[in-house]
Amino acid sequence: ENYSKEELLQRVKELEVEFIHLQFTDIMGVMKNVSITSEQLSKALNNEIMFDGSSIDGFVRIEESDMYLRPDLSTFQVFPWSGEYKEARIICNIYNADGTPFEGCPRNTLKRIINEAKEMGYTMNVGPECEFFLFNTDEKGEPSLETHDNAGYFDLAPVDLGGNARKSMITVLKKMGFEIEASHHECAPGQHEIDFEYADALTTADNIMTFKMVVRIIAQRHGLHATFMPKPKDNIAGSGMHLNISLANLDGSNAFYDENDKIQLSKPAYHFLGGLVKHAKAFTAITNPTVNSYKRLVPGYEAPVMIAWAESNRSPLIRVPAKKGNSTRVELRSPDPSANPYLALATTLKAGIDGIKNEVEPKNKVSSNLYDMNEKELKDLGIDRLPTNLKEAIIEFSQDKTMKDALGDHLFERVINAALYEWNEYSKYISQWEIDRYLMKF
Ligand code: GLU
Ligand code: MG
Ligand code: MG
Repeated sequence: ENYSKEELLQRVKELEVEFIHLQFTDIMGVMKNVSITSEQLSKALNNEIMFDGSSIDGFVRIEESDMYLRPDLSTFQVFPWSGEYKEARIICNIYNADGTPFEGCPRNTLKRIINEAKEMGYTMNVGPECEFFLFNTDEKGEPSLETHDNAGYFDLAPVDLGGNARKSMITVLKKMGFEIEASHHECAPGQHEIDFEYADALTTADNIMTFKMVVRIIAQRHGLHATFMPKPKDNIAGSGMHLNISLANLDGSNAFYDENDKIQLSKPAYHFLGGLVKHAKAFTAITNPTVNSYKRLVPGYEAPVMIAWAESNRSPLIRVPAKKGNSTRVELRSPDPSANPYLALATTLKAGIDGIKNEVEPKNKVSSNLYDMNEKELKDLGIDRLPTNLKEAIIEFSQDKTMKDALGDHLFERVINAALYEWNEYSKYISQWEIDRYLMKF
């Protein structure tokens, strides 16, 4: 809802809200909070709430640490789960002390890309499919890797023991304004998916952050641990966050639909696809930002490995679902839920609109199952792979000028440094796999 300041103050009073969480997302995609009492709200609405940016990973240097939170009034939501106090949240944009938008704020970055598309005459719509695992917790409340269900895809109760938790998540999400389209048990034991309705890119990125928060909190209330880690266990499927992307014309019609085309895609749709294919290696560093992300992108678990697109076939990176008309969209299957949603949308949308601007023809359409092809067949078709680890991905990313434009110098540099640091830490670690493999042998 679009509140004016006065209306919001009034609403907070009526609802007897006592605490308000001013939320924002850091570079790593972690939600941060500054909590205020409702008496301080008018100060917050006048953009007077300051915080120390240098205490947040990778944000700013000490000498430029004064940052301001500017609440986006339309994101006001009361937390519907009851506690001792009535609490609400407002999502904020981050501003510098001199009143300019802070370059390192992921939400500001996405807004910049959205405006770029708007100038071209498009609104970007995205519908995500977030998958996650529910694990048991032990006596101390620590998460384990055990699930007590052995259910599989679309299984029903009584095997689906996470089902109750999932129902309660859906109820809370609905109270917070989400339209839930579908929810089901996924392939792996303990794995779930809840899909909510598509929206404009900014709303969707906000929704993904809210969604993850709600899923974690409600799981905890059911004695379970919810994780969006992409591949918590080997030998079973990992968790993806497929993004269904489309562009709308300013009159609201779907800009990807053309009834006269062979597969009913418009020119901009083909070029958008072309841009996604062209920049796929580079944006993978953002859509799959952890060391663990790359353990999901392996053959055999419905996660993509090859950079190709297809109609309905599920093995390639991008799928064009059969449903057309106003539902025409492309489904990007590589992103995982550890990604910062603001940056994942900013980079993939930037890749797509770069494709439109430069009329990039989409290479690599395939019709057969890519998993069944051997190296030579793939090579003959000119089909390339996604990066196989974070290091490869970040090198691709750092060489792509379009990605640099997408994030701006500040974020670009910090994302690269953070990923390299992560990779170096990981490289020093001796895993159980190595012990098992080499300790006896050598
Ligand atoms: N869990 C799969 C992945 O890692 C996706 C399964 C599906 O198609 O929904 O992307
Ligand atoms: Mg799924
Ligand atoms: Mg999907």
